[in-house]
Amino acid sequence: MAKQQFEAESKRLLDLMINSIYSKREVFLRELISNASDAIDKMYYRALTDESITFNQSDYYIRIDLDKENRQLTVSDTGIGMTKEELESNLGIIAKSGSLAFKTENEIKDGHDIIGQFGVGFYAAFMVADVVSVKSKALNEDQAYQWYSEGADGYTIEPCDKETVGTEITLTIKESSDEDDYDQYLDPFHLQTIVKTYSDFIRYPIKMEVSEQKLKEGTEDEYETIIEDKTINSMVPIWKKNKAELSEEDYQQFYQEKHYGFDTPLTYIHTSVDGNVRYQAILYIPESAPYDYYSAEYEKGLELYSSGVLIMNKAPELIPDYFSFVKGLVDSEDLSLNISREMLQHDRQLKLIEKNLTRKIKQELQKMLNNDREKYEKFYSAFGRQLKFGVYNDFGQNKDTLKDLLLFYSSTEKKLVSLKEYVERMKEDQTSIYYATGESNAKIERLPQTEMVQEKGFEILYLTDDIDEFAIKMLAEYDDKEFKSVSSGDLDLEDDADDEAEKVSEDDQELFNKMKEILKGKVTDVRRSKRLKSHPVCLTNEGEISIEMEKVLNMMPDNQGIQANKILEINTKHEIFQTLKDSFTKDDQKIEQYTNILYNQALLIEGLPIEDPLSYTNDVWEVMK
Ligand code: ADP
Ligand code: MG
Repeated sequence: MAKQQFEAESKRLLDLMINSIYSKREVFLRELISNASDAIDKMYYRALTDESITFNQSDYYIRIDLDKENRQLTVSDTGIGMTKEELESNLGIIAKSGSLAFKTENEIKDGHDIIGQFGVGFYAAFMVADVVSVKSKALNEDQAYQWYSEGADGYTIEPCDKETVGTEITLTIKESSDEDDYDQYLDPFHLQTIVKTYSDFIRYPIKMEVSEQKLKEGTEDEYETIIEDKTINSMVPIWKKNKAELSEEDYQQFYQEKHYGFDTPLTYIHTSVDGNVRYQAILYIPESAPYDYYSAEYEKGLELYSSGVLIMNKAPELIPDYFSFVKGLVDSEDLSLNISREMLQHDRQLKLIEKNLTRKIKQELQKMLNNDREKYEKFYSAFGRQLKFGVYNDFGQNKDTLKDLLLFYSSTEKKLVSLKEYVERMKEDQTSIYYATGESNAKIERLPQTEMVQEKGFEILYLTDDIDEFAIKMLAEYDDKEFKSVSSGDLDLEDDADDEAEKVSEDDQELFNKMKEILKGKVTDVRRSKRLKSHPVCLTNEGEISIEMEKVLNMMPDNQGIQANKILEINTKHEIFQTLKDSFTKDDQKIEQYTNILYNQALLIEGLPIEDPLSYTNDVWEVMK
């Protein structure tokens, strides 16, 4: 049979693999064993749900066999096997669905990143082997097939002999060199160590022939070498174990083994519940977001087991959207094995589990925030955005769960603070929680609108994420303190007494009216500002939609031209105001130019586009003459 080429992407990845970018080559064994375990899971599930298949517990196992002379290592399983087509589609393509194309050439060169993002599973075998052969017989098939490859230049698939259902993967281990010791992968003791490290919790026995020195029967000092089959893993799934028996490292290893992520999780939750609904769960809070986390492609969900049998890879019903970053599994003896997707959605037990898990996750995050701020900030930089989406989505029904987990940058503390911390620091005469929106902290810092609030010594939260203000609006208040934008029309600041006395004169009001007329359709009002100190003008808004929200909404594909009600505020104590007044009485054309210039400058300060840049620059040139 003609040799078939790997898909182009696979080939590139395979080259990378062979040039060993994985820091630990020994993980190849973990990959093969976990594939074997997955295959047995599938078989086990089939046997339990299909009466025509009779299987005994002892029929499920994984074997490791060595043939040192021929440098061969074989991993075989009694799993569900692969048909010819499955061999082709499962082993002929790595990183399906163009996910590799997602990465740029540069990132590919570096290599680590890709492996980190996609994992390579089966192909890890090529890190230690020159030749890989896969013999497999699928359930309900008469003919077995062999997939054979000597590396990046392709593979063949041909019929072969294999009596029993399952898969047998044989690696021809590379020759050792001065730099690389491959012989260790042919050493039974070393292999046992690798299995113990990475695959100890695999639920099926991993058997291997082990030789041991034993006292010869009937003698006292004569030893003989006994070769016997031994199960080299402990087999108890980690979630069934007692927490006290497990180390942090065990949980980390399990996370890697399960491919929940390639980072090191920030923390884990191991819980066993024996109440209305019985279940064990292990949950992880990852350190970093997967590359597709904030895209529509990302699928949330936990693995779902029923009495130790995997029934679903990703059950989304087990965690709420706002905690969609959580990875892990749930095993419950109260769930039926034959439960379908549709049934899951209405399952009362499952709803209960979800509620409990959500509470647990919230507690864990709160604990992290209170006790390990640095860690929490790491978490927050990866997933804070999701929490804010959570506040905003579902009509704010989750805001009470989430409000204490939010952090925002503070003008006075110069770091992220929680709302609780803000409120505790509030001044006696302060009634609202102030915030300002903008692209970056540095830009917000220079916003004219913050001047008055800052002068009062009030803390301002800086909102730089486009979701921030939407979330804040949904919260509306925290601890009975209303949120107030420094750009909102009614700032609620108590005016200085003399300021209050100084009513807007009739003349000034006339000027404002004139300006308002000039800016018809652009602003809803022109007013004297109570918040400006050193700047002549700024834009603020009245009503539900803020200027920042207008920007965000207009970036969306189906924007409906939503606009904030903008107000041009004038600092009547600024010398520019005098210029305005002078020209108002003398020169109609000048006042129009000035008004337009000031309005456009206010737009620029807000980071809004100028409607007519040419007429703006013309105006500026005109007055400079
Ligand atoms: P993953 O395990 O993440 O799907 P792998 O590269 O490890 O990716 O394996 C690719 C696919 O090949 C598996 O999803 C599975 O369908 C198939 N496969 C691999 N090893 C076995 C095996 N021992 N028995 C049956 N199928 C297997
Ligand atoms: Mg795999």
